[in-house]
Amino acid sequence: MGEPAKKRVPVVEGKPRISEDGEARLVGIKCGDCGKVIFTLANFCPNCSGENIEEVLLSTRGKVWTYTIVHVSYGSLIFEPPYAGAFVELEDGAFVHAPIVGCELEDIEIGMEVELEIIKAGEDEEKESVVFAFKPARAGLD
Ligand SMILES: [Zn+2]
Repeated sequence: MGEPAKKRVPVVEGKPRISEDGEARLVGIKCGDCGKVIFTLANFCPNCSGENIEEVLLSTRGKVWTYTIVHVSYGSLIFEPPYAGAFVELEDGAFVHAPIVGCELEDIEIGMEVELEIIKAGEDEEKESVVFAFKPARAGLD
């Protein structure tokens, strides 16, 4: 609103993928053999080894499948411990490992509905680098 958006670039290439207009989405594959949607860009299906795969944009919403509280940071300086590292099951069935942000740790529950959140990790004059996480889904949208 007002300020022109800086070009967004992912810290980890493709995670998320940023479109020309700045929309950030996770990308995975859908297997034409077993039907699974998987958060990977492999050339074959990790589930059934099928090669009948297509690249798909993954759902932006899902549920917390399980999570742990991370007390010791391994490498990431973007999320300061303690934070919740979760496996999120997206609406399309893909599983994504990502931090949960935007709520207190004690409010996180298995089964909680979450949505993709893009977080600025750093910036310079032209661009900002981003990583992805999930946050509690807002009710009443969609
Ligand atoms: Zn498969």
